[in-house]
Amino acid sequence: MIASRTETRSAGAAAPAETTPFRGLPIRPELAHEQPYGAPQLDVPVLLNVNENPYAPAPEVIATIAREVAAAAASLNRYPDRDFAALRDELADYLALESGVPMEPFSVWAANGSNEVMLHVLQAFGGPGRTALSFAPTYSMYPEYARDTHTRWVTARREDDFGVDPAKAAAAIAEHRPSVILLASPNNPTGTALPLSTVEAILDAASATDPATPAVVVVDEAYAEFRRAGTPSAVSLLARHPNLAVTRTMSKAFALAGARVGYLAAQPHLVDALRVVRLPYHLSAVTQAVARAALRHRDALMAQVSSLRGERDGLVAWLREQRGPGGAPLRVADSDANFVLFGTFADRHAVWQGLLDHGVLIRETGPDGWLRVSVGTPEENATFRDALTDVIQALTHVTEETA
Ligand SMILES: *Cc1c(COP(=O)(O)O)cnc(C)c1O
Repeated sequence: MIASRTETRSAGAAAPAETTPFRGLPIRPELAHEQPYGAPQLDVPVLLNVNENPYAPAPEVIATIAREVAAAAASLNRYPDRDFAALRDELADYLALESGVPMEPFSVWAANGSNEVMLHVLQAFGGPGRTALSFAPTYSMYPEYARDTHTRWVTARREDDFGVDPAKAAAAIAEHRPSVILLASPNNPTGTALPLSTVEAILDAASATDPATPAVVVVDEAYAEFRRAGTPSAVSLLARHPNLAVTRTMSKAFALAGARVGYLAAQPHLVDALRVVRLPYHLSAVTQAVARAALRHRDALMAQVSSLRGERDGLVAWLREQRGPGGAPLRVADSDANFVLFGTFADRHAVWQGLLDHGVLIRETGPDGWLRVSVGTPEENATFRDALTDVIQALTHVTEETA
């Protein structure tokens, strides 16, 4: 493990040319001062920083995966099924069950994480001279997919409650005329889910701006399984919108981040466009086997998700009762995900560092002053609560002494 990766991205023009690590190579100028993603991978007892499911796979899940991988190993001399028909079948089944919307295998696409799915979307529908639009604050990877596909990246602002105002969204679409619109719902890092009326308003605005070829609207539902009761999924809009795509992942609710499986649902003609840009055999036979094995245990995994949702609601409620070092009550964003954004702190880095000193790693991300904590096991959440109480108390003393 590389223990010292940082998430700093240097501002393009700041460093003189000779400090680029790519000195002497014909690197694309817009990459010359970039750093690779990402989140610090530190060896700490309580990891609440990248929204993973805190529960390791159960023994019966491990056994199924091992059996299926052994079976796949028997034909690893052959390339895998390029179009992974069996996996698409089972993902369609799962999605139909989870969302209550009938789903055909030809409407499903998959790749090595929804990150790669999103790259396929931008390869097919973005590109030079084209624009991708999103609503900030949002997922920090989106601008990187845009950069890597030579797509212009534009953001409009979310409101103070981190929602998206439909009228302002429509105005931004009319102004920038994007070919791709990325909507994370529930959003990362805020946890905010969008009402379907907002997604529909954005779909309407895309059609009004360019009736012949409206923008592809991607609703990134990486955290959909954690949504609160009554929060709908955009999957229910697919039948009426040929330019809509909904992405999902097995990395979060499915407790399978290490397997790298993400997927997308859309009408089959949109999926066909993604098939054009994917690398041949991008989804290995081993990956396909692991995903199918895990899907067989979906009932047990979904029960676990429901307990994580309860922990999340408890954490939101507890955080709302706390006061920051300055004495003001903490602000806590509503969350339909498996993490909570809270703040605001005059010195958020001090809070992050204080927690790390207590063995709890969270994420310093989001708007100024906010921090994001992933929902862990009940024991991990208790450790986080105790550590945060200590850290705020210590910082309160500092504030008083220097006042
Ligand atoms: C975690 C996350 C994903 C999932 O990425 P994978 O590549 O599937 O692991 C996608 N979108 C958002 C907003 C996320 O936070």
